[in-house]
Amino acid sequence: MMMAVLWLLIGFVLMETFSWWIHKYVMHGVLWKIHKTHHQHTKGYFELNDLFTLLFGGIAVTLILLGASALDYRFWMGCGISLYGLLYFFLHDVLIHKRLNLLGRPKTKYLRAITKAHRDHHKTNEKDDAVSFGLFIVPKKYFSEEGKN
Ligand SMILES: [Zn+2]
Ligand SMILES: [Zn+2]
Repeated sequence: MMMAVLWLLIGFVLMETFSWWIHKYVMHGVLWKIHKTHHQHTKGYFELNDLFTLLFGGIAVTLILLGASALDYRFWMGCGISLYGLLYFFLHDVLIHKRLNLLGRPKTKYLRAITKAHRDHHKTNEKDDAVSFGLFIVPKKYFSEEGKN
């Protein structure tokens, strides 16, 4: 059981690291054409950028299926990635971008810091001058600037 929780956490933490990296170097790099639809949203509910959600979701489902019979590390890592994806969806898509009208304004200090950091990421609609690519790991300054803005 301990190992299960450990692999689940590893899956979660790896996703934050991996998605930070892919966001900074790939999405704001060679795949900007796709990710741009999230920064320069025009019309319609879906963005071409949602393809990344399908990709990450596909990786999680594949791991879960591969590890399902043995209930080994692949299964739990897949669960960790799914948990990450679910929380990412609620924070990034619902709370910050209001794709669903479920959550109001961010109520805790941490959620306000996440929101602020991601708003900063969206300050630019361009490929090269963006900041703050992660989601859950928030730079300290977004906590200390509470009250400003
Ligand atoms: Zn971006
Ligand atoms: Zn965003």
